[in-house]
Amino acid sequence: MGRKILIVDDCIDSRMLLERLLKKAGFANIIMADSAERTFEILHIEGKEVDLILLDVIMPGMDGIEVCGQIKEIEDVKDIPVIMVTGLSNVKVLEQTFKAGASDYVTKPFNTVELHARIGSVLRLKDEMDKRKQRETELVVANEKLQELNDVLEQLSSLDGLTGIPNRRRFDNHIETEWKRALRNQTNLSLIMLDIDKFKPYNDTYGHLESDECLKKVEKILQNTVNRATDLVARYGGEEFAVVLPETSFEGVVKIAEMMRRNVEISQIPHTSSNVSDVVTISLGVATMFQGNEQITSIDSLIDCADKALYEAKNSGRNQVKYMDSHKQRKCNHEI
Ligand code: GH3
Ligand code: MG
Ligand code: MG
Repeated sequence: MGRKILIVDDCIDSRMLLERLLKKAGFANIIMADSAERTFEILHIEGKEVDLILLDVIMPGMDGIEVCGQIKEIEDVKDIPVIMVTGLSNVKVLEQTFKAGASDYVTKPFNTVELHARIGSVLRLKDEMDKRKQRETELVVANEKLQELNDVLEQLSSLDGLTGIPNRRRFDNHIETEWKRALRNQTNLSLIMLDIDKFKPYNDTYGHLESDECLKKVEKILQNTVNRATDLVARYGGEEFAVVLPETSFEGVVKIAEMMRRNVEISQIPHTSSNVSDVVTISLGVATMFQGNEQITSIDSLIDCADKALYEAKNSGRNQVKYMDSHKQRKCNHEI
């Protein structure tokens, strides 16, 4: 069908003349409106198919400038180029038409060569814009697909993207295996939950890249503090780590947690915006599952216990190790 052009003019003679000129130039698909109201009706129904609007400036009721301004506010049709048709070569009016979003203008009486040239260049511009929009849409779709794939990969992977250590998923699997083993072998299973103190201010002060580096440094320190092959340091959340220590007594895990706390502190990673210390510190919560521990009867309760202890460490001033129900746990550990 070719390009669809909408002619808007209240004067029938002007409309017919324009139509004839356009048809002569090879544009066969022409629709016409004699008023602002009719223009919006047409745009509402078939706006998406219109490639160009030739819009008369002076019309009774709503004039062309206002119509143009309103078209540019309607999401579905705002990108249709508008060429204003004016009998006035009044600069003031031209300025207004461009302000209203018109792409170009032609003056009456029409100069056929000029009319073709202007329509041609506006349509070429629209083609370029359409192609660009198309490419942008394709890019957005491609990006979404990529993101989805990344999410799937991340889920499938057992390693954290930043630190390269086991992630939450691996932690969940590991603690389940070790929990079952501990029950089978009637041994202890200890857990440390720890969180970097005042890491939000650290981020605000040093920026994201430096903060990521800090996370990696802390991870290395934690890793270097544990020494058994069965111990697992995992990134549990943002700046929170979990350490699973199979066959480790309550007293043993408290020692290791304290070593972690100390090793982070003596690494002297500057943290000027912390009110805990002038270096990066961590808070730790410890819990141990052992035979006869009535408080810890499931993996969830083990995590919960360590988490609550961590919360207590935070509340008691941070940069320290805490544990829940210490008396019971100590008593039992002496027995083992
Ligand atoms: P608290 O001592 O109570 O733990 O205070 P906080 O500021 O460490 O705790 P909060 O949970 O309010 O803020 C955690 C911040 O850690 C949020 C975010 O700025 C930062 N964070 C978490 N994960 C990442 C990460 O992967 N990279 C970076 N750069 N920052 C992270
Ligand atoms: Mg924190
Ligand atoms: Mg946190």
